[in-house]
Amino acid sequence: MESKVSLCSTCRTPIPREEALRPPTFPFCSSRCKMVDLGKWLGGEYVIPEPIRPDDYEAIEAVIAAQTGEG
Ligand SMILES: [Zn+2]
Repeated sequence: MESKVSLCSTCRTPIPREEALRPPTFPFCSSRCKMVDLGKWLGGEYVIPEPIRPDDYEAIEAVIAAQTGEG
């Protein structure tokens, strides 16, 4: 039976995992917990890793060239 329950990401309250039973705020038990988690993101507690794009490589290479290329 434990496998049919998920824990709220914020307060660890058990939430039914079945689609028909779970709250619209899943995987959170309530909208409050959802907002708390969102606040963590906005507060910088979580870091979203951003993939490096080709444009970034050019910028990085330009920085390296500026540091090493010219005496
Ligand atoms: Zn909760």
